[in-house]
Amino acid sequence: MKQLKSDVRLIYKGFMKIRQIRPWMLSLVVIRSVFEAISPFITIYMSALIIDGIIAKYDFNTLITYAMLAITFNFIAVISIKILDKNINLFYEEFNHKFDMILSQKIADIDYANVENPQTHQKLQKIKELRNLNGTGIWNLFSSASLITKNFFKIIFSISLTFSLFTLNGNNDSSNILNFATSKLCSILLISCIVINVILTMYSNSTSKKNYFAILNGFVPLNRIYFYYFTNFIASYHAGKDTRIYNQKNLILSKQNDINNNARLITSKIGKNEIKYSSITIISTIIITTLVYLFVSLKALAGLYGVGSIVKYVGSINEFIDSFTTFMNEFASLRANNEGLIACFDFLDIKNVLYQGTLPVEKRYACDNGDNDYEIEFCNVSFKYPSSEDYALKNVSAKLKIGKRLAVVGMNGSGKTTFIKLLCRLYDPTEGIIKLNGVDIRKYDFKEYYSLFSVVFQDFKLFSFPLGQNVGSTVDYDIVKVEETLAKVGFTKRYSKMKKGCNTFLYKDFEEDGVEISGGEAQKIALARALYKDAPFIVLDEPTSALDPVAEFEIYSKFNEVVSNRTAIYISHRLSSCRFCDDIAVFHEGKLIQRGNHDTLLANDKGKYHELWNAQAQYYA
Ligand code: ADP
Repeated sequence: MKQLKSDVRLIYKGFMKIRQIRPWMLSLVVIRSVFEAISPFITIYMSALIIDGIIAKYDFNTLITYAMLAITFNFIAVISIKILDKNINLFYEEFNHKFDMILSQKIADIDYANVENPQTHQKLQKIKELRNLNGTGIWNLFSSASLITKNFFKIIFSISLTFSLFTLNGNNDSSNILNFATSKLCSILLISCIVINVILTMYSNSTSKKNYFAILNGFVPLNRIYFYYFTNFIASYHAGKDTRIYNQKNLILSKQNDINNNARLITSKIGKNEIKYSSITIISTIIITTLVYLFVSLKALAGLYGVGSIVKYVGSINEFIDSFTTFMNEFASLRANNEGLIACFDFLDIKNVLYQGTLPVEKRYACDNGDNDYEIEFCNVSFKYPSSEDYALKNVSAKLKIGKRLAVVGMNGSGKTTFIKLLCRLYDPTEGIIKLNGVDIRKYDFKEYYSLFSVVFQDFKLFSFPLGQNVGSTVDYDIVKVEETLAKVGFTKRYSKMKKGCNTFLYKDFEEDGVEISGGEAQKIALARALYKDAPFIVLDEPTSALDPVAEFEIYSKFNEVVSNRTAIYISHRLSSCRFCDDIAVFHEGKLIQRGNHDTLLANDKGKYHELWNAQAQYYA
């Protein structure tokens, strides 16, 4: 009972979500269901009238009027269904589109901590997997809503038309069999048979469906593996090199073959399940239909009603059996569909926990004609990743002044990138606070605070969009500014070879004439994107790791010009490339252990900087 309650609550939540995303759609579905439900009963009812009319020798005009009425009612119903269908399909497309947008928007809006959490991606993945598998999820609610309402109305109409059949009990003693057929007992027995048939059909349908879903679930891991091979080996030409060098063809093909064999086994199980349970339904339906015909005909023979009513009663009872079974089954399907709804809401209900401040950030950046007076201060900041027991940063205190060049150095895993993630508010400190111009950064409006930073992360991502959109990060960008920034990062030579200029697609995923770019070129484009965004702080995390020495020198030699009056924070484990920075912060095991310029730090021969410098210097020598 508790389970039923929570299932119903979830289904209600699903319907409310649909209503919120595409209002009126469900109302149209219900109206269409009424038309769909009434249509067969008009035919049944009017046919009975016409047959009775013919037998009673009604005049031709009356009979034609009945026929015309039946045709007109059905015509109106069919036309209305068509018109409603057109709008419902349109609404359904809109709903699908909006729901996909909501999923994308959600992943863009959730706390970054959740983006780094693999569970978040598994949740999103599950929504897609269940949807691709059998449409399970919020989408299934439409067909269920339509079937449930349609069959609900059909049940009402069929009961109204057959009610008199069971109340008309005669007192005929012409023969035993007719006597029995017209008795109350016979009515009760037939109703019981109908109920047994409905229960049997419901049982076999719901068991068959349950088995079907259980068997189908076997496809989920297979699909996942298949898409893994598809994206990583077949569709990704990047893998082409490895597969050839290591002769991996047979390895991959044998794995794919295993998937296909398993898939064949699953399909065969589905077939067997279908045959087993549908035969139960077919046999029981044949038996009950025969009994209904017998019962209705015998009552007619006993003179309780005319031949026309035979059509009406038989048709209505068949409709009742069919609609009641579908109605109950759909309820079972609706509950089975909850697995998909849970997946949808598991993802959509992920809560943001980062404090959402409201303070606007002062517009002091020089580009906005401000005095550029920004200061960021880390006050005794410590941080643990949500999934970790250990501190990634411990008691870090540091001030960053606008216009300065700060290098953050240290060995791998020393906390450099974590320091940047906290600075940009991708995470909040576990302890301590970070201040912008003396105010805790949590109090600032999130988006405004982000606007202060341009970051080239080590694992930056460029999209298979045109070059200009990648640099401008918008659909409509300033082409002159894009070209200027590309020139600043030394991309001019490569750019001149791009026939479509800023409209050249990066990579070939969407466009055949998209261009392949090297790791170094990608880094230059990412750098141009960072410069295009006129943010007062620019953070470069190993920005030249993929550049050749000439390109690296080119960027460094004009680094001051490129960065201009921004505050630049430059992260690297290559100490030689930090010498141009006037301020160097040395991180070790999550702590900021030294700070100063190159000469002062090097002079301290007991310091970490001195040790790291000497360890690396032998390679430069
Ligand atoms: P660096 O940039 O100096 O190489 P990081 O800041 O990336 O170092 O990492 C500091 C520590 O935090 C390392 O021990 C690393 O394993 C851990 N770490 C980094 N990212 C995560 C994460 N998303 N979840 C858990 N631990 C992490």
